Amino acid sequence: MKCPYCNNPDTRVIDSRPADDGNSIRRRRSCDECGKRFTTYEKVETIPLIIIKKDNNREQYDRSKIEAGVLRACYKRPVSADQIKETVDHIETEIFNREAKEIPSSIVGEIVMDHLKNLDAVAYVRFASVYREFKDVNTFMAELKKMLDGN
Ligand SMILES: [Zn+2]
Repeated sequence: MKCPYCNNPDTRVIDSRPADDGNSIRRRRSCDECGKRFTTYEKVETIPLIIIKKDNNREQYDRSKIEAGVLRACYKRPVSADQIKETVDHIETEIFNREAKEIPSSIVGEIVMDHLKNLDAVAYVRFASVYREFKDVNTFMAELKKMLDGN
């Protein structure tokens, strides 16, 4: 980091600590040439992820929306808060591991369903029925049967 006073490229970090917002690091630096001190802030780079909705509109990825969907599906099911958090963590990791800038909401839905399937059968069917917009009971039953058969 160049010294802002004399442009000397050799400066030393003399102190590092998290900044107030917790998302950046504040560093005190000292210039070997002129002896002056200055402060830099380093921000953690967050990768913006865009979700492509069914109507082709874009919106910023929002973990709380996935959380809300999983919570709703697990309503009154024997699933603990820890299990829900863990499931959302896994879903999120899988989404970000795709390393895409934009992801269709349909893919996100499939990932959520995949994880719910392992978590709780009723939660899975609930989520799938809302998500896939089952038009009638037959489609719903077909999905349920497919799941019970383990396919
Ligand atoms: Zn300097």
